[in-house]
Amino acid sequence: MGGSLSEQQKSIVVHLTNILKPRPKLSGSEWVNKYFYLSPESSAAPGKVTLYPYQEELMDVMCDYETQFVIFKKPTRVGFTKLLNMTQAYFIHQRPSSILHAQPNNEEMRGYATDEFEPMVRDNKIISDLIDGKVVRGKNKTDRTLKKSYPGGIWEGVGAESSRNFNRRTVRVFMADEIDTWVLEADKAGDTLTTGMRRTSDFWDRKNIMGGKPIIKETSKVLEWFDKGDQRHRYLPCPHCGHKQIWGFDDFIWDKELAEDGSVIRHLPDTVYLKCAECKEKIYDHHKREMDKGGEWVAHEEFTGIASFYIWAMFSYSPNVTWPDIVREFLSAIGNPLKLKAFHNEVLAQGWEDEFDSLEITDYKDRLEEYEAEVPEEVLILTAGVDTQDNRLEVEVVGWGRYEESWSITYRTFYGDTAKPFVWQELDLFLASKFIHASGGSMTISATGVDTQGHSTKMAYEYCKANKFKNVFALKGANQIDAPIVPLAATYTNKAKIPLYMAGVNAAKDVIFSYLATTERGAGYCHWPSNTPYYNAEYFKQLTAEKRAEDGRWVKFRARNEALDVRVYSLAALLLAKVDLELLFFRGPAFWVPPVPKEVVAPSSYLDEY
Ligand SMILES: [Zn+2]
Repeated sequence: MGGSLSEQQKSIVVHLTNILKPRPKLSGSEWVNKYFYLSPESSAAPGKVTLYPYQEELMDVMCDYETQFVIFKKPTRVGFTKLLNMTQAYFIHQRPSSILHAQPNNEEMRGYATDEFEPMVRDNKIISDLIDGKVVRGKNKTDRTLKKSYPGGIWEGVGAESSRNFNRRTVRVFMADEIDTWVLEADKAGDTLTTGMRRTSDFWDRKNIMGGKPIIKETSKVLEWFDKGDQRHRYLPCPHCGHKQIWGFDDFIWDKELAEDGSVIRHLPDTVYLKCAECKEKIYDHHKREMDKGGEWVAHEEFTGIASFYIWAMFSYSPNVTWPDIVREFLSAIGNPLKLKAFHNEVLAQGWEDEFDSLEITDYKDRLEEYEAEVPEEVLILTAGVDTQDNRLEVEVVGWGRYEESWSITYRTFYGDTAKPFVWQELDLFLASKFIHASGGSMTISATGVDTQGHSTKMAYEYCKANKFKNVFALKGANQIDAPIVPLAATYTNKAKIPLYMAGVNAAKDVIFSYLATTERGAGYCHWPSNTPYYNAEYFKQLTAEKRAEDGRWVKFRARNEALDVRVYSLAALLLAKVDLELLFFRGPAFWVPPVPKEVVAPSSYLDEY
């Protein structure tokens, strides 16, 4: 050892040094009430701020030393953005730390920086005195981060749409706003939230602050983290008898004008009230503020480092979110699934269970067949689909028969940094392989669809450019729900000036799911081999990882869906290559024809020696 410290000893020293540092004397809420000014850009009541009673404990926990994770499951319009502003100001002023603040995407981050962060700094002199210069954008075009520096740290704002935005320095404080939107916007399967939180793992007093409205029950990160936490609910005292309780939207009671047969002629939302469970007296919206003053947060679970808070819109101080407003909003949403979903998410702060079209292949083992050859008799042509992730390429080879009956041939994953050439060379070798058809001939892959978006776009473009004469098509998912599976023509507006095809991913999934649901051999039916290890439970989970939402859009409810994506790209490649399966059915499969070897004429004297 020679007197040097082990890693463990070092970390203890660091820990002790941190503990022994003078701690700020003020809690988060005390600091806000003493120092903080609200900006006119971000508040209808600018100037010296006083926190609402329900915000005080949140503010304290967001700034304390004990809580590593804070999650706020919340409706819109309860001032979470303000709390984030205040917390950042607190850390800059009281506990200098680097801060990484993430909004769902770059656009929203820029909006946040302009409308919230900048005015907050401007109007709080104690902060602007510390901050060095203006918010600056990253130097190169791809660097979309926003940065500010101050003694003891750097504030950085990023969009969560790409996990790459998080691959930077370590920070003590990580803030993640509207995290459920991330699931819908983030690049494929990359769990950007985890990546972001990893940035804080070096600090014993790290702080991960997350918040947002829950969106879809099954995929909600807000709900997942709320459940992991100690689940604090806001109990309010009855204004008449003082009995503390929690209420939900179901507890709202309002009068109705009834017809003689008892049917409702008219709802009267202005009459809405709550009934005290104890004294049975009526409680109205105008009691709300007084009740909040006497309110308290009660944890329903044990605290294990994760503080989670839940409120819904009945607590909102916004003049446009009174209890009658909430009832009116509910009444106007009845019968309209999209509005009801918004009501659940944004007012009740609850996840929504969509009525999806979906499919589960739980009995997948029964669906596997032993192929008589690598490529079964009925296969007429092979295509491949390539999904590009940061650290790997995933490829499926699919054999197509008459009427788009399909046979999965093999599924491979090539690991490596897809921004570098090596893994693409591996792909290239693989795509050139020959597959043995049941009739004895050998087949090569006739067309390949490559996902070029999100990950390593430049290398994907280069690969497609170099191989365009081999029917390697560069694909990009079209946003429009009704875009055709493949477009009539390519676009050339990309950087590499290669033909890029906007694939109608949603339409492709409509077709693929209808094929997956087909239970009789023939048109559209899908076959999978039992004689390769690649078609396992994980593959089938990924293949069926999406559901069709009310609006007809396919959305994923599992983190990984690559198996479905590669299937989409294989189908797109088949269509882009304009393969006429009917013609092939009569002519015979598209076999690989070996090049005719050049005749070698050797000098006779040379032959003579042997
Ligand atoms: Zn009461």
